[in-house]
Amino acid sequence: MPQRKNNEDDFWAKVDKTDGCWLWTGAPNNNGYGQFMMDGVHKLTHQWSWIFTHGEPPVGQINHRCGVPACVNPDHLYDGTQRQNVKDAVGHGTHISIIHASKTHCPQGHPYDEANTSIEPTRTGVGRKCRTCHRERQRERYRRKMQDPAFREAERLRAEAKNRSRGHEPRLLR
Ligand SMILES: [Zn+2]
Ligand SMILES: [Zn+2]
Repeated sequence: MPQRKNNEDDFWAKVDKTDGCWLWTGAPNNNGYGQFMMDGVHKLTHQWSWIFTHGEPPVGQINHRCGVPACVNPDHLYDGTQRQNVKDAVGHGTHISIIHASKTHCPQGHPYDEANTSIEPTRTGVGRKCRTCHRERQRERYRRKMQDPAFREAERLRAEAKNRSRGHEPRLLR
């Protein structure tokens, strides 16, 4: 006897519809997204939800307004660009906490907390950057540049011009 195939009803039967998010009750993948197989096609559950609701796949990537990967509430999904997805991640912090939940500090030991973490697009999605390390790298670059007399002189002139435009006496850089 052939195995009965999944259909749309089987999909919604596995969804816990709360007043807010509609949560997939099946096992999530490593990134927290639900997965469902139908007609031999394997897709993430929010993608199925989109297709069942709109009758066709989205033009771009589907994003969660709510930031909950397992959510399949059609009202919480929208068709967006990769760029938009990064902005969402910044807003929710969720993608990042899922991808790198085990890492709490940067390689130099600075905490990946809200103040010290910037979220930026990478080739594979979004990644976290340590702001302290970034600042230190910038400072070091500046220090190295300042060893060049020509750069130092240019900086001095820039500072003078700035002070003049503010109506201050020119001040020498330390
Ligand atoms: Zn939701
Ligand atoms: Zn760091």
